[in-house]
Amino acid sequence: MPSADVLIVGAGIVGAACAAELAARGADVAVLERDVVGSGATAAGMGHLVVIDDSPAQLALTRYSQRLWDAMVDADPSQHDHLRCGTIWVASDDEELAAIGPKQALYAANGIASQPLDAHTLYELEPKLRPGLAGGLLVPGDSVVYPPRTALALMERAAAAGARLLHGEAAALLPDGVRLADGSAIRAGAVVVATGARCPALLPELPIRPKKGHLAITDRYPGMVRHQLVELGYIKNAHAADGDTVSFNVQPRPSGQILIGSSRQPGVATRPIDFPMLARMVARAVAFMPALASCTMVRTWTGLRAATPDGLPLIGPHPARPGVWLATGHEGLGITTALGTAQLLAAQLLAQPAPIPPEPYLPQRLPELAAVA
Ligand SMILES: Cc1cc2nc3c(=O)[nH]c(=O)nc-3n(C[C@H](O)[C@H](O)[C@H](O)COP(=O)(O)OP(=O)(O)OC[C@H]3O[C@@H](n4cnc5c(N)ncnc54)[C@H](O)[C@@H]3O)c2cc1C
Repeated sequence: MPSADVLIVGAGIVGAACAAELAARGADVAVLERDVVGSGATAAGMGHLVVIDDSPAQLALTRYSQRLWDAMVDADPSQHDHLRCGTIWVASDDEELAAIGPKQALYAANGIASQPLDAHTLYELEPKLRPGLAGGLLVPGDSVVYPPRTALALMERAAAAGARLLHGEAAALLPDGVRLADGSAIRAGAVVVATGARCPALLPELPIRPKKGHLAITDRYPGMVRHQLVELGYIKNAHAADGDTVSFNVQPRPSGQILIGSSRQPGVATRPIDFPMLARMVARAVAFMPALASCTMVRTWTGLRAATPDGLPLIGPHPARPGVWLATGHEGLGITTALGTAQLLAAQLLAQPAPIPPEPYLPQRLPELAAVA
């Protein structure tokens, strides 16, 4: 029977990052994956590495993670299809433009460079945007990667440090490991559940809901979009607990393709394309960038984000299940925050100092978990 000190269930970008970090710190690690590495939400994600300021805790984790990403991609950008394109938060009208000042001040207070753009500068930087927009905020440190490739690179790094990748599906948690769907078991001193939106299958008490998202990618149009362009209303849409939302969110790929997002359907766990939703999402993109209407779309797909009630991930011990640890609930930021998550989880699991305060992300904050017998 296989065994490990730490068994990580799920080799998405979060599980792979945790494996790489724990193995680098000397832990005896195994990773259990039912499919292939990076095949879950990680394969569906947009790969926008973005600082998000919707709460102090989200800002701290995204900012900290971005520093870790910078160090990793600088060492070998080709391993991640990295492009430092920056983000432009686009203001549609004067009311949205008024939000730019406080946003920039908050970024500055946290050491994040940003530059307010008047309408003239906005069109100089992104001439294909529709006329009549008010301005924006450029955040030059944001960037994009190809997430499944990074997940694989992290898993390879974990393997080089001694971690084993096992193929199989965890069917249930045991007091000292997991039982697999084929009836076999893996013994482990600690089990890290990193199964993304599928977490409630192993831990029914988790208040994690799927949020389905669509993306579409065009043929190659080099230079048409130069930055990740996101409408300022995006964060409000991302947090809507009920009701389907779409936002203007487009990304230039290193290939010259344009990745078009994004949609959110809370509570929807089915993967087939929802064509009316796709049409809504593309129409929103065309409303901001009319030239997209004449671009050829070559592929579209969906993915399931793992959403917690408060929008923050769960990183740390399960308060009522000894030996069970959580690294999940990253909703639309799990690519950005995977590296910070791995540092926080490894530090707690190995009783080492945490790099940033871990409290906002501890699972014990959720009353649903404390109630488990
Ligand atoms: C449309 C869309 C756009 C996004 N855009 C961005 C973005 O631009 N930037 C950003 O930061 N984030 C983005 N995200 C979010 C990001 O993709 C996720 O937060 C992140 O991929 C979560 O990674 P994960 O490892 O937790 O989960 P997953 O990638 O889902 O990995 C979980 C793994 O666990 C495995 N698994 C599940 N159950 C079991 C089991 N019982 N036994 C064994 N293995 C199991 C699965 O096969 C899978 O490989 C986006 C998400 C979507 C859907």
